[in-house]
Amino acid sequence: MLSYQHAYHAGNFADVHKHLTLHAVIDHLLRKKSFITYLDTHAGRGLYPLDATETNRLQEYREGVIPLWKDRQALANEPLLSDWLAALARAQPDPAHLTHYPGSPWWMGHRRRTGDRQWLFELHAGEHEHLAQQPLSEAVARIHGDGLKGLLQRLPVKTPRLCVLIDPSYERKGEYLEVAETLLAAMRKARHAVMLVWYPLLPAGRHRELLEGVREGGLRKVWYGEFTRRTPTEGERGMVGSGMLVVNPPWGLDERLAAAMAPVVARLGAPGSYRSGWWVEE
Ligand code: SAM
Repeated sequence: MLSYQHAYHAGNFADVHKHLTLHAVIDHLLRKKSFITYLDTHAGRGLYPLDATETNRLQEYREGVIPLWKDRQALANEPLLSDWLAALARAQPDPAHLTHYPGSPWWMGHRRRTGDRQWLFELHAGEHEHLAQQPLSEAVARIHGDGLKGLLQRLPVKTPRLCVLIDPSYERKGEYLEVAETLLAAMRKARHAVMLVWYPLLPAGRHRELLEGVREGGLRKVWYGEFTRRTPTEGERGMVGSGMLVVNPPWGLDERLAAAMAPVVARLGAPGSYRSGWWVEE
């Protein structure tokens, strides 16, 4: 039974880190003319009005996207972050006011070219219903089903390039290993794909199962970026940071993100840190 709803957390520090990384990857992929399939295994609702009851309950966006949005003029000199904030403005009904936070499908969706394809999976019936109501192009497939199984069923894809985002809610302990196994199986079917995986940094360190599984499975060219927002207090169990794995990262991703994350950490960390590098080299 699925209970997680991303609307409670939309626009928080982890979303900023995840979507900034996704934006940087997509930006790089779109520099070439050949078409892309973007497959989102855990799509969520697609768009989150900040005044929705769920999002308003915890208001996590106040310690996430809001401080960056407020400072967007001061951040104009940071190329990737300012570009991300400009894209965020385009997701608003009124670009001068931040009233909505776009989810992962949007970061490719708003730049999709005619020949690019998009597959969005969402297993939660209610969340899928929200996604189905988004005014997206008919060329965007929204599937009510398991994204990990769906990914493996749909490989290889017809376009020359493939970008995958795996962004589970990790409600079950076994999910970390399942994600690692799916990633390994998917990379065997699509060796040149760029695949991104988000994972939470919890005091229990459960993400290590995922990272070790990927290394032991023999995957190469695996890059990671981790934003630790704060040090956990004694006995704490909640999320203290956000991690991203990227298999086959585009050239220059590490430098671009390190530069963009520095002002993010300065504004959202309490106090925080960011580190990145190869998890498994070539
Ligand atoms: N990717 C979204 C974004 O960045 O805007 C957020 C996704 S949220 C972290 C995880 C979503 O995955 C939830 O909406 C949940 O209902 C859904 N979900 C959980 N297990 C799933 C599965 N096996 N296949 C597809 N969706 C699943």
